[in-house]
Amino acid sequence: MKKSSLPRNPSSFHLKTKSSRIQGSRYYPKRYDLDPNTRNVILDEGLVCHVAFNIDNQPFIIPTGYCRVDDTLYLHGSVGSHFFMQMAKGIPLCISVTIVDGLVLARSVFHHSMNYRSVVAFGKGRLVDSDEERWLAAEKFTEHVIPGRWAEARQPSASDMKKTMFIAVEIEEASVKLRDGGVGDDPEDMDLDVWAGVLPLQIMPFEPMSDESGKPGLAVPAYVHDYNRSFF
Ligand SMILES: Cc1cc2nc3c(=O)[nH]c(=O)nc-3n(C[C@H](O)[C@H](O)[C@H](O)COP(=O)(O)OP(=O)(O)OC[C@H]3O[C@@H](n4cnc5c(N)ncnc54)[C@H](O)[C@@H]3O)c2cc1C
Repeated sequence: MKKSSLPRNPSSFHLKTKSSRIQGSRYYPKRYDLDPNTRNVILDEGLVCHVAFNIDNQPFIIPTGYCRVDDTLYLHGSVGSHFFMQMAKGIPLCISVTIVDGLVLARSVFHHSMNYRSVVAFGKGRLVDSDEERWLAAEKFTEHVIPGRWAEARQPSASDMKKTMFIAVEIEEASVKLRDGGVGDDPEDMDLDVWAGVLPLQIMPFEPMSDESGKPGLAVPAYVHDYNRSFF
């Protein structure tokens, strides 16, 4: 989806109740968008999320992979992972996904910024125990990272699945924040001899490096060669 096609009408912004977790100390409506479609585009493009949780008043934040199915995020990890065992207890989680679209280089350091799209989602961990949902999560996770891989790679064995824990997080609330556009310098700085502008950034694959330790001569699949993480 083109970034420009994301719904961005400031007049349609709304917050939930005052007690909502997405009601911040400082609300800057121009940059927030609570439309679930905007949220989903960002979640589907992102590769890594950060999961925050609190145990005995000690905050933790762990980066990990994820995928989205409708309003649910799936995470997967080792059955021996402390992090996953905590999430399986149903503790409250806050999950964020960030895509950096560019560096905004103003004439003054003060007005430097970044263009970005970010999601902050709230929910609770749920241990996925049905085989059907575990397989769905395994497939969607793989396809989220690299579409086409699930059909080609060896799929998980019973033993692989036994070693893997899947956690579902139904999104209870989520906020989206975006910045795009150019430089916002103060009028008195406009005549400075300082280059200003935006340096766009995106995840860019390089030439794939084949692993030579297996069967020789296998062609790089098109879905690897043509990998594109940027959806706009
Ligand atoms: C790549 C990147 C770089 C940034 N750099 C800076 C920086 O250098 N300095 C700075 O002050 N801010 C920066 N921000 C913005 C930062 O994430 C906060 O939005 C900002 O600090 C304002 O916080 P607040 O006190 O208004 O929000 P709070 O009142 O603390 O947050 C209230 C609620 O708003 C929502 N929310 C807040 N921020 C975001 C977000 N980014 N995405 C989605 N939902 C959100 C959450 O639901 C949160 O619970 C950056 C964001 C990104 C993605």
